[in-house]
Amino acid sequence: MSNGSVLVVGSLNMDLVAQVQDMPRIGETIIGHSFDRMMGGKGANQAVAAARLGARVAMIGCFGSDAFAGDMRSILAKERIETDGIRTVENVSTGTAMIMVDRHGDNSIIVAPGANRYLGPDDIERHTELFESSDVVVLQLEIPLETVLHSVAAARRFGKTVVFNPAPMQGLSEELLRDIDYLILNEVEAEELTGAPASEFDTLAKRLAALPCKHVVLTLGGDGAAYISGSEVVRYPAMKVHAVDTTGAGDSFIGAFASRLARGDDARDAVKYAIKVAAITVTKLGAQAALPTEEETKQFDL
Ligand code: ATP
Repeated sequence: MSNGSVLVVGSLNMDLVAQVQDMPRIGETIIGHSFDRMMGGKGANQAVAAARLGARVAMIGCFGSDAFAGDMRSILAKERIETDGIRTVENVSTGTAMIMVDRHGDNSIIVAPGANRYLGPDDIERHTELFESSDVVVLQLEIPLETVLHSVAAARRFGKTVVFNPAPMQGLSEELLRDIDYLILNEVEAEELTGAPASEFDTLAKRLAALPCKHVVLTLGGDGAAYISGSEVVRYPAMKVHAVDTTGAGDSFIGAFASRLARGDDARDAVKYAIKVAAITVTKLGAQAALPTEEETKQFDL
């Protein structure tokens, strides 16, 4: 079976994570315990998730003109992700997320989108060959909406399957939704999009089914996920694991789902596989650090 190609058009961030005892108050300077730097951004996370599971992955995105860009290019190369579609924007910083985690595990985060804001329709037009050679195109909302719309149009032009993760959620037009094959969202995003409370699953599922996109996958955290397509609503339970850190669970799910769709799997099988991959991810600390390889996933039998 061919592994399939995934194109991710999305954000690339450097996550700067400091562990602190307690969050600093306004005007206060405190000494932290530790500091780590790791690649993040929903686009990059989903790309790495799919690549580790054996998909051929290319990314379209933007770096700034700073040292983070070089580091991240090497990380992407190590993950075997094609970076020809990533442009360096002069005099702008690479996207960063400044994260403080306190002793309770609570966090405060400042995202400075930097170069991600500069990813424009021209970048899409410059790399239509990446659309042409892909099976599945994956998009999120950490880049300008105009670029997302342009990417969806390009994917449509080449007859590619579009997986769309509307995070962070913003108003979505009927026109955009109509062109989406698989809308993958969590309960908070589903509530925002439909106005139905997540506590009322049947109402929420009905509202999601009525959206103009072709299929919906609703992720339900520790309760698994639901596949909604017309009148078909199927719930899949999560795998029972000892969750230590759910950061990146959603991105891991989406990368895994896209990797299987790209191979030609049925969407329901892709959801079951994504549930397994996301379960492995939550048993480990970190976002990208926790994303499993195909080998690890095969060996993960409870
Ligand atoms: P995050 O923002 O934490 O990355 P998310 O809110 O986008 O995640 P979730 O619905 O919380 O997405 O989780 C995605 C998937 O991860 C779920 O559909 C489920 O399969 C898996 N998952 C999440 N939490 C757990 C858990 N405690 N145990 C097992 N699987 C889990």
